[in-house]
Amino acid sequence: MSDTVSALWFDPELCLVGAEWRPAVSGATLPLTDPSDGSGICRIARGSKDDIDAAVSAAQAALDSDWGRMPAFERGRILTRLGQLVLDRVEDLAVLEAMDVGKPLTQARNDAIALARYCEFYGGAADKVMGDTIPYLDGYTVYTLREPHGVTGHIVPWNYPMQIIGRSVGAALVMGNACVLKPAEEACLTALAFAHLAREAGLPDGALNVVPGSGAEAGAALSSHPGINHISFTGSVPTGALVQAAAAKNVVPVTLELGGKSPQLVFDDADLDDALPFLVNAGCQNAGQTCSASSRILVQRGVYDIVRDKMAKAYGDLTVGPAMQDLRVGPLISARQKEIVTGFLDKGADLNMAAQGVLSDSAPDTGAYVLPTLFADVPPEHVLARDEIFGPVQVIIPFDTEDEAVQIANNTDYGLVASVWTRDGARQMRLAKRLRAGQVFLNNYGAGGGVELPFGGVGKSGHGREKGFEALYGFSQLKTVAARHG
Ligand code: NDP
Repeated sequence: MSDTVSALWFDPELCLVGAEWRPAVSGATLPLTDPSDGSGICRIARGSKDDIDAAVSAAQAALDSDWGRMPAFERGRILTRLGQLVLDRVEDLAVLEAMDVGKPLTQARNDAIALARYCEFYGGAADKVMGDTIPYLDGYTVYTLREPHGVTGHIVPWNYPMQIIGRSVGAALVMGNACVLKPAEEACLTALAFAHLAREAGLPDGALNVVPGSGAEAGAALSSHPGINHISFTGSVPTGALVQAAAAKNVVPVTLELGGKSPQLVFDDADLDDALPFLVNAGCQNAGQTCSASSRILVQRGVYDIVRDKMAKAYGDLTVGPAMQDLRVGPLISARQKEIVTGFLDKGADLNMAAQGVLSDSAPDTGAYVLPTLFADVPPEHVLARDEIFGPVQVIIPFDTEDEAVQIANNTDYGLVASVWTRDGARQMRLAKRLRAGQVFLNNYGAGGGVELPFGGVGKSGHGREKGFEALYGFSQLKTVAARHG
């Protein structure tokens, strides 16, 4: 995709440390690849421990100067300005994300708009986070203060860079933290672009620092750094566990968002035409590389054949191709991810494949393409029904009773999102309680992203909540002040 290199309106080989855009201390760089055709886009800085050390010092210095003293409403104004700058550059950001992640342009554009919404939401919330006064003994006045953690580390994956930066860095900044951001080495262009826009919006020196590099070097240095006071991590379970273990050595709180195996439960009385687009889209959006992807569709037997046939038809209509062609499904992030997903498809060789999408004629052999694949009649204990695949693969599982559906839905290590399709109001209320998940949707899935809606998991999906107002509590700590005045 050589012509899109002109879409780079900044030097991608630099890190942001304090006020300065500079190369990695070692001078080393890493290649960045366009997954639509496997071509090189540019090189990025290969940050390491030295760069993380410098970024943490710059963040600490920001807390000790203007940024640390700035009133909440002014922090909010900066975020609100940043939201407007993001909106002004939506197309530029979408092109960067499309070539870096392989995300079809429309989806990349939606991510940029979501990033703007996070900035607006948190910008507006900045001066609305309040403590309490607590009735106590005679002669005392007791109140609580919400204070920043200090320096926060943000380790962001490659699947939704803009949305994840918006929800974690946005919330951390308005609470007065100073951030060190380590984007994924496979997708860091919009993180760098965001930092340029943040500077343009007036964010003071050191409030946001960005160090690209590998997880093993820059990521590990960040999560184990003694100067970090909070870590927000989104990614895989094994890496999340490593990050938590590293942070534990410094007794630092961690928010982990680790993906899932999210089910949609379709009952006999559901409005199937209403449900169908949600059932399919929740599996193939971003080529299934979504933490809250719905990879399991549980269908009651009375409508099982109808749902299977409708979904199979929809799958047959899915075409996969280059991000710039803007089809429903683009490539996976990398050849490595393609290998992981293809490995799962091999494990499904014993299953009933109900349908597959098709490859666009314009998809180069060198791209990381996997055909969207639907399996039917899948036993709930099958590996494809239990493991996170992180590709455009969905399984349909039949069930008879509500109890059986709940048992299957809850029988995974994960618990991020679930949805229920039924017209029965009492069943909706029952299942909203019984399903083991951080978010439950009734007759919808995902609520369009919903920056306002607290998000996070139970079990191996992680802990802590981001998004919505709730995130502001996570990115701050509570201090109790007890005054004895007689
Ligand atoms: P990882 O969990 O390894 O990567 C996520 C982030 O962590 C990246 O920024 C990565 O950096 C960083 N990282 C990697 N190793 C370390 C470390 N030792 N210490 C600190 N940070 C580190 O995911 P992968 O990219 O390897 O993807 C593998 C699988 O993870 C996917 O197939 C999918 O199942 C799952 N995943 C889940 C996501 C979610 O949204 N919940 C998002 C992405 C992946 P770098 O990439 O530069 O190495």
